[in-house]
Amino acid sequence: MQDKVIIITGASSGIGKATAKLLAQKGAKIVAGARRKENLEELVTSIQATGGTATFQVTDVTQRGDVENLVQHAVDMYGKVDVIINNAGVMPLSTMDKLKVDEWEKMISVNINGVLYGIAAALPVMQKQGYGHIINTSSTAGHVVEPTAAVYAGTKFAVRAISEGLRKESGGKIKVTVISPGVTETELGQDITDETSAAGLKEIRKTALPAEVIADAIAYAIDQPSYVDVSEVLVRELGRI
Ligand code: NDP
Repeated sequence: MQDKVIIITGASSGIGKATAKLLAQKGAKIVAGARRKENLEELVTSIQATGGTATFQVTDVTQRGDVENLVQHAVDMYGKVDVIINNAGVMPLSTMDKLKVDEWEKMISVNINGVLYGIAAALPVMQKQGYGHIINTSSTAGHVVEPTAAVYAGTKFAVRAISEGLRKESGGKIKVTVISPGVTETELGQDITDETSAAGLKEIRKTALPAEVIADAIAYAIDQPSYVDVSEVLVRELGRI
């Protein structure tokens, strides 16, 4: 982990923020991206205050140019990219008959296009280096589809499919990992506009994992010998069916 340059999208809260803090503690150089500048400033300041190394770049992952700038910022600051964690995501749940088509499109933009833009920006840098590690955040919803989560699960199945294809194409040089968290206590779902879905999420959050558990799983995938490729880590709450 020491001195690895690690880009994290969606680092302004939840799993991304917890991961940035943990990896920085372990000696990585963190490049944090998200839209909320104040949150990123606070994160970087807190990492630096404890002797860690971090920088940030305001990034909207639905804008390809923003994601390219984020990766370029990492190269400009630290000269390489060891890992990119395409973690930014949104989850405005609802049943399909509510026809919240704008929210479907938002999930596709952030959860799928955001991941693709991260891959498109980092892959050439990693190919040139001859090494690299692309970590994409899926979900247990990338394995199991529940009512209200049809489109969200669709985006998370897509993340797994894209990651698997990328892994098979990577020619033994670039590692590809999928992280599939179970229900985790974060800000995810605050954008739900459907009251029934919001109430449902509140109920299942009663047994949610802390974000630090998922950060640990990500650290495990990174902190392996060069010849080990952790394809997926799926972590769910004990007792969840
Ligand atoms: P949070 O809502 O706490 O974090 C989501 C992050 O994504 C924020 O930092 C947010 O930053 C960022 N984000 C959202 N939209 C954009 C955008 N357009 N451009 C850049 N960044 C964006 O939720 P989590 O930490 O839970 O989510 C992290 C990942 O984990 C997501 O992919 C989510 O789907 C996945 N996941 C979460 C689970 C859970 O139960 N919490 C379960 C399974 C998977 P900002 O608003 O500042 O841009």
